[in-house]
Amino acid sequence: EAKARGRNTYHFFSQDLNDAAKEKLQIENHLREAIREHQFVLYYQPKIDIRTNVVIGYEALLRWVRPDGSMIPPLRFIPVAESTGLIVEIGEWIIWEACRFISRQQSRGHDVTISINLSARQFTDQNLAEVVERVLQRTGARADKLIFEITESMLMGDTDAAIAQLNELKGLGVTLSIDDFGTGYSSLSYLKRFPVDELKIDRSFVKDIPADTNDMDIVAAIIAMAQKMNLRVVAEGVETIEQIEFLKNNACYLVQGYYFSMPRAEQDLYNLSYQPLLIGAAEL
Ligand code: C2E
Ligand code: MG
Ligand code: MG
Ligand code: MG
Repeated sequence: EAKARGRNTYHFFSQDLNDAAKEKLQIENHLREAIREHQFVLYYQPKIDIRTNVVIGYEALLRWVRPDGSMIPPLRFIPVAESTGLIVEIGEWIIWEACRFISRQQSRGHDVTISINLSARQFTDQNLAEVVERVLQRTGARADKLIFEITESMLMGDTDAAIAQLNELKGLGVTLSIDDFGTGYSSLSYLKRFPVDELKIDRSFVKDIPADTNDMDIVAAIIAMAQKMNLRVVAEGVETIEQIEFLKNNACYLVQGYYFSMPRAEQDLYNLSYQPLLIGAAEL
């Protein structure tokens, strides 16, 4: 009995591993095809100044549109792209596309920023700053309109290398932001050593406001700390008017979330139905 069960367990286990490996290989092949066939598209989520309801920028979020029209969310394929190294090529395309977006916005007279998520592999790439510099030159996008989002975990490990990379990027005149802030393990003394400009409070702390008073305390503490350290602070995942009120009362004025808009294709940014938002009229 035990032996049979043991064999079964082993069988199921190896079967699962096999399936996982197979799925990974399948995604990897599909990713190569996606690059070749131009199946990636950037969606854009507005970042709003809630004092004025002005759109001050957008976050670029990657979408993979399969030939059948289905859309695959980034968390399903970015880990595979990361582990196979394909993310470097995809990431370079993202930088080009986001900078072309910015230069189109500039020519419409929209003074907005674009935030790009960097993956760990991209962030440790020695050529990153060089690529960014070239793209800025070729597209005419203004460096001070470009924001790179990294996560706390990318700053751990080899901190000297991380600081060197951040300084190289900062040297180009771009802005640096810590995404999903509060979910990692960065200590305050670390934070002070990194030349970053912005913190994005993770959605997990925002979503249960105002029901969860612990989360409200955490968010208020992050906002206060950011102010003390002279960092800009952005709240992610804002979905309700109560959350907006709470953030306003705590002097956090920059927000992203479904309350204002889901990420949208570029052509859909200009017919936001909820209200006629002003675009890019405010200074950061
Ligand atoms: P992130 O950078 O923290 O992006 C925020 C995610 O929260 C996005 O999911 C966005 O659609 C979602 N979101 C925004 N507002 C709300 C809200 O009010 N409620 C809820 N429930 N969700 C909201 P998405 O687009 O699926 O991206 C997930 C993650 O995938 C991103 O998290 C980022 O880590 C990664 N990612 C997305 N695009 C890229 C990319 O171009 N490059 C890299 N390296 N990673 C990317
Ligand atoms: Mg992000
Ligand atoms: Mg993230
Ligand atoms: Mg985030």
